[in-house]
Amino acid sequence: MGRILIIGAGGVGNVAVKKCAQIPEVFGEIMLASRTLGKCEKIRDEIREKYGREIKVAKVDADNVSELVKLIDGFKPDIVVNVALPYQDLVIMEACLQTGVHYLDTANYEAPDEAKFEYKQQWAYHERFKEKGIMAILGCGFDPGVSNIFCAYAQKHLFDEIKTIDIVDCNAGSHGKGFATNFNPEINLREFLHNGKYWKDGKWVETPPILSTDCVHFPFDYPIAGPKESYLIWHEEMESLVKHIKGLERIRFWMTFSENYLNYFRVLHSVGLTRIDEVDYNGCKIVPIKFLKALLPDPGTLGTNYSGKTVIGCVMDGIKGGQPKKIFIYNVCDHTECYNEVQAQAVSYTAGVPPIIGAMMVITGVWKGAGVFNVEQLDPDEFMDALNKYGLPWVIENFKGEVPQ
Ligand code: NDP
Repeated sequence: MGRILIIGAGGVGNVAVKKCAQIPEVFGEIMLASRTLGKCEKIRDEIREKYGREIKVAKVDADNVSELVKLIDGFKPDIVVNVALPYQDLVIMEACLQTGVHYLDTANYEAPDEAKFEYKQQWAYHERFKEKGIMAILGCGFDPGVSNIFCAYAQKHLFDEIKTIDIVDCNAGSHGKGFATNFNPEINLREFLHNGKYWKDGKWVETPPILSTDCVHFPFDYPIAGPKESYLIWHEEMESLVKHIKGLERIRFWMTFSENYLNYFRVLHSVGLTRIDEVDYNGCKIVPIKFLKALLPDPGTLGTNYSGKTVIGCVMDGIKGGQPKKIFIYNVCDHTECYNEVQAQAVSYTAGVPPIIGAMMVITGVWKGAGVFNVEQLDPDEFMDALNKYGLPWVIENFKGEVPQ
């Protein structure tokens, strides 16, 4: 039986810990640590009541290596799962190196003062993790995460060569609020301020950001959800997939946004509330986007009246046995069912279950190695089986729809 330390008691952390509590045969000892102890205690109490299990909780500042080292040395986990914020990735990796414990996260590193994300800083840890004989598994949420695993599975079983990948992400749910983000508002809004970017014929091509009138979008016909306007954005898994999917000619990422979301976002941006630099307010320094985060609904509380579904998957085009082949592999997740299971909406659920499956792969010895890995570098088969077993079933269909060429 394994010991798992989960850092971050937000929307995603709540799902991750409750999922662990449902799998005592793998996760014998569970600790949840976060900045605000009260949030950990609330989740602990819900787990005690619903599953009759005791988990340990702790307060930790995950920006502080020595605090983390002390916590890890005290609890002695087999793996640390980081579902705090991308700002903490490097610090938690450093603490895992010092204590010789495996590391896993769901979002790549970002510096608070620069709205930019890339794997460079985390990949730079490869040799140190290798020397220490431990694994760092990067981007093991849904997208990145399951989206990468879908590609690895398709490369292994469904194609001789994959030529194009279009990752499509649709939230066709309704939370009933005027404006809210489905994961941490600061991280969410920073992400969508970027230019779009996709990869074609060995080169990255930039496109305007979603707030621009020139941004690239098209109506993708999602199963169950139907046609939804999908916007071309930059998303981190493309950076690793172009390295690990052989023969790939093009990869793009599309996400749906409602007109309502875009209108609110435009206004918030135009009045300066998405700024990430400090401004002076009556002699006090504030960062507008952090202030905005404090005003917006906590994504962890959105589940109560959320209805509808998420549909996320990969359209792939390639060759099998000398014949052209097009498939769509995807998951559909229902907001209300997630709430009934773990008191969370489907975006937290789809992001919170995969890191637990990843941790399970490490604890049970299915994923072995030393160094820093993106999930598509690891064997997808048992992970795919576990998705079906633990609440994120997938479907593979011949793709008959259209994506822009
Ligand atoms: P939340 O803001 O709801 O939760 C983050 C948690 O981390 C909070 O409990 C917060 O503490 C805690 N935290 C922040 N800073 C520190 C710190 N310095 N020390 C200790 N704890 C800290 O975010 P979400 O749960 O929505 O998202 C969590 C992560 O999941 C993010 O990195 C996000 O990018 C990622 N994600 C990945 C997805 C995927 O599919 N790959 C999809 C969705 C999200 P406090 O409660 O005190 O604020």
